[in-house]
Amino acid sequence: MKAHKTIPSKSIKAALIAPCGMNCSLCHAYIRNKNVCPGCYGDDDLKSKSCAMCHIKNCGTRKAGKFKYCFECNEFPCLWVKRIDKRYRTKYAMSMMDNLEYIRQFGIKKFVRQEKGKWICANCGKIICVHKRNCIFCGFDWRTNNLIQKLPHNTRG
Ligand code: SF4
Ligand code: SF4
Ligand SMILES: [Zn+2]
Repeated sequence: MKAHKTIPSKSIKAALIAPCGMNCSLCHAYIRNKNVCPGCYGDDDLKSKSCAMCHIKNCGTRKAGKFKYCFECNEFPCLWVKRIDKRYRTKYAMSMMDNLEYIRQFGIKKFVRQEKGKWICANCGKIICVHKRNCIFCGFDWRTNNLIQKLPHNTRG
């Protein structure tokens, strides 16, 4: 299996939670060894074109309103948020809108704490990459076997 750097769960932090609710520390582009993306708030030159050009990250409404997360916006959930949420729910069994709702209700600190406990491979204890069906470190099928769907804020399946 291809070697990846081992990121302990403590590297999940508020600075890696994007305005859309994405946890960038679970992204393959962040976990991989080469061409590592610094996360949504990082330098655009180091990101993929799609993330550098992202409508949500670059949203003028958010910048003008000087708020951090999309749930604080009067237009929430706008088409862009709905679109990415649908894509992630369908493809990766994760919901940005659920993440944002959790942050709205309980705050970012509690969300980060929960994420640290949630995205751990039940087999090897290393961080789970949301974009890969199997643990990138040990090959375990975490989507089938971890208890992620049963956690309270992940209600959309
Ligand atoms: S590629 Fe996009 S989603 Fe992944 S870490 Fe970078 S900014 Fe975040
Ligand atoms: S919800 Fe609001 S802040 Fe977020 S992308 Fe949509 S319009 Fe921009
Ligand atoms: Zn594992």
